[in-house]
Amino acid sequence: MAQRSLSPLRQRAAFLEGVLQSLVDPVFVLDHEGRYLDVFGANERAQYDSPHYLIGKTLHEVMPKALADGFLADIRGVLDSGEPRSSEYPLSALDCDGNPMDGPEGPQWFIGRIAPLQDDGNGLRAVTWVVVNISERKRLESELHRLANCDDLTGMANRRQFLIWLGEVLSARDAGRPGGSWQVAMLDLDHFKRINDRYGHLVGDELLRHVAGELERQLGEGARAARFGGEEFAVLFENTGLDEAVARLDRLRRRLGESPMKLGSEQIPCDFSAGVCSVGDEDRHAVDLLRRVDSLLYEAKEAGRGRVLQPGWRERRGRAPA
Ligand code: GH3
Ligand code: MG
Ligand code: MG
Repeated sequence: MAQRSLSPLRQRAAFLEGVLQSLVDPVFVLDHEGRYLDVFGANERAQYDSPHYLIGKTLHEVMPKALADGFLADIRGVLDSGEPRSSEYPLSALDCDGNPMDGPEGPQWFIGRIAPLQDDGNGLRAVTWVVVNISERKRLESELHRLANCDDLTGMANRRQFLIWLGEVLSARDAGRPGGSWQVAMLDLDHFKRINDRYGHLVGDELLRHVAGELERQLGEGARAARFGGEEFAVLFENTGLDEAVARLDRLRRRLGESPMKLGSEQIPCDFSAGVCSVGDEDRHAVDLLRRVDSLLYEAKEAGRGRVLQPGWRERRGRAPA
C-alpha cells in the first residue's frame, strides 16, 4: 500500500536498491582514494564475510599497506584509462581489520571485476568492484596442475614437467638470457627387471619411491629431478658445472649403496647408470639435448653399468670410470 504513494522516481530507486541487495556476490563502490562508499549483496555466508563494516573506511585503514597499495593502483588504473579490468587475488579475513569473521574459514581466492562508475554529475570519481569467490576454481586448477605434472607413484615431477623446465631454460637462452651453467642428466636403474622378477612389482614400486626420495634429498640446491618414465629419472642442474653434476650423481650412487632399501631383514641393493650433458649455446630443442644424454646413458650401460658418464669420458679418463 505504502508503495503506491511513492513517486515513480523513488519507486525506481527502491526497486534498484532491492535488486542490488539481492545479489549473492558483493558489489563495492570505492572512490579514487580507496574509500568504501557503499556495498551491496554478499548474501552467502559460505562465500563471503558480512562486508558492511567496510563502509566509510579506506583500503589503507582496513588492510596491510602492500595489499591496499595494490588495490588502489587497480582503482586508479581503471579511473585513468576509463577501461574495466579484472584482478585475481587471495585474501584472508585476518587481513581485514574489523572483519566480523562470519564467512568462510581460511584464505580465499577472489576475482574482482572493476569498472568506472559513471559520473553522477557531482564529480564523483569512483569504481564498482564486483567480487566473486573463485577458491573452488583455484583449488581445482592446482589439483589439475598437480595431476598433469606430478608422477603418481613417487609424487615427484613427471616427464611433462621436466620438459617444461627444459623448455624454459632453452627459450631463455634463445632470448639471450643464458642464466648460468645448466646440466641435464638421465639416470636408469640397473637390472631393475630382476628386482621385479625376484620380489614382485609392489616391491619394485617401493624401490622406485626409495630412489625418488634419495634423489630429492641428496642432489641439493639447484637440482630439479623428475621421474622421466619407468625406472628412468631426469635431473636438471642449475648453476652447476659438468664435473660438479657428475660428482653429485656419484655421491647419490654411493648413498644408494650405503643405505639400501630394507625389506624385512633383507636389504635391496640398487645402482644406476647415467649420462650428463651441458646445455650448450647451440642447443635449441630439448629433443636434441636428450638424444645426447641418452646416448651417454647407453654408453654407460654398455661399459658395464653403475657409472655416470659425461661427453668425452673416454679421452678424459682413457677408460670408463667404475
Ligand atoms: P638395464 O640395466 O639394462 O636398465 O636393465 P633393466 O632391467 O633395468 O631394464 P629394462 O628396460 O629391461 O627393465 C625395466 C623394467 O622396469 C621393466 C619394467 O617392468 C620395470 N618398470 C617400469 N615401470 C615400472 C613401475 O612403475 N613399477 C615397477 N615395479 N616396475 C616398473
Ligand atoms: Mg629403462
Ligand atoms: Mg634399467
